Amino acid sequence: MSRTQNSEDLFARARAIVPGGVNSPVRAFGAVGGTPRFMASGQGPYLTDVDGNRYVDLVCSWGPMILGHRHPAVVEAVSSALSHSLSYGTATPGEVELAEEIVARVAPVDKLRLVSSGTEATMSAVRLARGFTGRSKVVKFAGCYHGHVDALLASAGSGVVTFGLPDTPGVTGASAADTIVLPYNDISAVEQAFASPENIGLIACVITEACPANMGVVPPLDGFNARLRELCTANGALLIMDEVLTGFRVSPSGWYGLDPVDADLMTFGKVMGGGLPAAAFGGRADVMSCLAPEGPVYQAGTLSGNPLACAAGLATLRALDAGSYAKVDAAALTVGQAASDALTAAGVPHRLQRAGSLFSVFFTDAPVTDFDGARAQNTAAYTAFFHAMLDRGVYLPPSAYEAWFLSAAHDDEALGQIADALPAAAKAAAAVL
Ligand code: PLP
Repeated sequence: MSRTQNSEDLFARARAIVPGGVNSPVRAFGAVGGTPRFMASGQGPYLTDVDGNRYVDLVCSWGPMILGHRHPAVVEAVSSALSHSLSYGTATPGEVELAEEIVARVAPVDKLRLVSSGTEATMSAVRLARGFTGRSKVVKFAGCYHGHVDALLASAGSGVVTFGLPDTPGVTGASAADTIVLPYNDISAVEQAFASPENIGLIACVITEACPANMGVVPPLDGFNARLRELCTANGALLIMDEVLTGFRVSPSGWYGLDPVDADLMTFGKVMGGGLPAAAFGGRADVMSCLAPEGPVYQAGTLSGNPLACAAGLATLRALDAGSYAKVDAAALTVGQAASDALTAAGVPHRLQRAGSLFSVFFTDAPVTDFDGARAQNTAAYTAFFHAMLDRGVYLPPSAYEAWFLSAAHDDEALGQIADALPAAAKAAAAVL
């Protein structure tokens, strides 16, 4: 067992003044129990906590740290931006360069607006879709998480499912009433929703994770995204592909690089900020031109396009060459397979689900194609597995419903430490079956 006194003390202080002691719910370890580790530093594939324990990091800040911690090119770019100023509240060269970099990579994006979080990106994309179409209803899929946007929290994945919250107080009936929640990967449900008399001519957009990874990784069935495109076009609705998590992680152009379905609007975050708060939404020129100040749909942000965040994001995207993606892919393949082998050897029913370099392990043996399937897993087995890995210096997501994130910095030494920890963790999971 590692020392945790300093984390415990900080958690006690935090709980006195911060709800649940954390600034984003899953960090509190509520789903797995125990003391959340307060981190003090990171280097490459490792995290070090305030008690001096070192962990191989399989969260990577929930995606952004694809180059590992303190990558020299990113540190240098941020230091250089820092030496000029932290923020201007004016247009800057860096935001033009970052937008150009993204537009050049993702063909459906003609124009882009920078914001500070994935939540802002999806919220603004939905507003724009409503403004452009003059329609009110939004289709989303159960288990897809698009940030904590009122209209998009119904049946969301990520922390909402981790804590078993069906919906959340504070979202008014009026805003929830315009959201149609459908089962993921069920194209006939989408066809019926469009055909239903109460929805005809009223659906502004369908929003989907390009490849869902917030209920665990649940790839779209072959042709699912393409059929969504057809249905949106046929019914005058916009298609919004949320690539906040997959964007620039699974390929240089995100999920679009693996499954090139043209969305009308796309959302990005995580990797494009390199670990600082930058996110974006973009898409068709005629739709994006409806945004203020070009058009009437309002959207703004004091720190949007922040120069440090743009510098970190741009340096990250530029440093991510083919070799880096190959390393992330290889590391994900190795870790996923090693976890599955260890669980098989220990007799633990599980399902390894992959989509490019994204993967997660469900503690159930049935294939998972939707939210109900994801929720059928044995979360107690994951809890035992998680703590056994943590005790052996591997920091997994503190929830069974999250993807495991690798970086290009996960080298043989880090992968070896994960492999060494897995057999005992698999036995710990087997013990609670
Ligand atoms: N969309 C997706 C697919 C996400 O995975 C997330 C966050 O995990 C968001 C939106 C929200 O992003 P943020 O946490 O930056 O608000």
